[in-house]
Amino acid sequence: MSAIDVQTPPAASPVEQETAAGNYFVSNYPPFSFWTPERLPEVEAALNRPPAKETPLGLYLHIPFCRKRCHFCYFRVYTDKDSSAVKSYLDLAAQELELYAARPFIGARRPQFVYFGGGTPSYLSEPQLLGLTDRMKAILPWDQAEEVTFECEPGTLTDHKLETLRKIGVTRLSLGVENFSDHILEINGRAHRSPEIFRAYQYARGLGFPQINIDLIAGMVEETEENWRVNIEKVLALSPDSVTLYQMEIPYNTKIYQEMKAQGKLVAPVADWQTKRAWVRQAFEVLERSGYSVASGYTAVKQGARARFVYRDSLWQGADMIGLGVASFSHIGGTHFQNQHDFEPYLARLKAGQLPIYRGLTPTSEERMIRELVLQFKLGHLSAAYFQRKFGIDIRARFAATLARWESLGFMQNDGDWLRLTRDGLLQVDRLVTEFFLPEHRNARYA
Ligand code: SF4
Repeated sequence: MSAIDVQTPPAASPVEQETAAGNYFVSNYPPFSFWTPERLPEVEAALNRPPAKETPLGLYLHIPFCRKRCHFCYFRVYTDKDSSAVKSYLDLAAQELELYAARPFIGARRPQFVYFGGGTPSYLSEPQLLGLTDRMKAILPWDQAEEVTFECEPGTLTDHKLETLRKIGVTRLSLGVENFSDHILEINGRAHRSPEIFRAYQYARGLGFPQINIDLIAGMVEETEENWRVNIEKVLALSPDSVTLYQMEIPYNTKIYQEMKAQGKLVAPVADWQTKRAWVRQAFEVLERSGYSVASGYTAVKQGARARFVYRDSLWQGADMIGLGVASFSHIGGTHFQNQHDFEPYLARLKAGQLPIYRGLTPTSEERMIRELVLQFKLGHLSAAYFQRKFGIDIRARFAATLARWESLGFMQNDGDWLRLTRDGLLQVDRLVTEFFLPEHRNARYA
């Protein structure tokens, strides 16, 4: 490989303005549109290989049910499934785990982390939760997992349900608060209201969950600077262990985009990127003054609290993860794959006794290196020596032009072995890291 930055794309402009439609958040690489059914034999081979020594294993379960669909939501969720459909889904997701547990890639491993995501995992009733988790633990015990995360919509949390979550071993309760204003919650299509947030949070705190996270979104429809300031004040008053701050994006499959399209609008009716970055910057500064540390482009963690987010940190360093449920993503032994992304085909494959996988991809060594580079930069810093050791590549030479440009724009500091994003860089990291993408991946859609 040449010592010059052979991949320098046309440089992204230092500043972008309005929020146009499309995905902003980068969660994986190469983009999902490059994963194909033709690559399924690679998945089969990965499942039949014993695990690489010391590669941690994680478990993800997608619960695709919600009380109503938020107007900004781009996830695979259903708001019309009755209890028998939910029951079938949970039975078959456990059966999916059984199919995986019989494959050689598991080896003697037990999950290091478990993540219940959605959708709304807290949509499930207490008997459903107990039945599901008992069955999962009997197949692949996760009592020793370092972290069990559970995403919650505050309005679905009763005191008994929170007690059940504590009892089944949840260590990280993540509350999708998004905003504390009932007006903003309502016009953005959220199902919960602010009194439910405070009630659920206080009760959960009393139960002693090791970590409670609050999610907020900067730039929801009709959000103002004053509303954002009040949100941060209310978060500080609750004092959660971590705060996750997303910047509103409007992907194509959202209700907001459908309305924009119908009205012939190219610009979303939400704050522009500069404003959202300014709000998150301000929030980070207030949180830092109040005893939090900024741990990634989106998270602030209370000092003294358990700072590690095992799910994110393990995945971003190449851990294996079995993704159960409709449309879930997995990563095993260097191969990525995704499940059927519609409800009935997903169930039908499992009823036939087959794994419901429909597309996959084994990235090249270069693509794996770029994946880790992208994901680790999202934490704000990375070690060049790590990439030299793991991939035999001097990233400082390989991406010299991009890194020099970032330095000149004030987005990054080169600190010997460590490359550290400045706050300016960190607040727009998802936009910047696409500069590392191979040319064929630059304009791909994350769908
Ligand atoms: S609660 Fe989350 S997953 Fe459900 S519709 Fe709203 S944004 Fe989507």
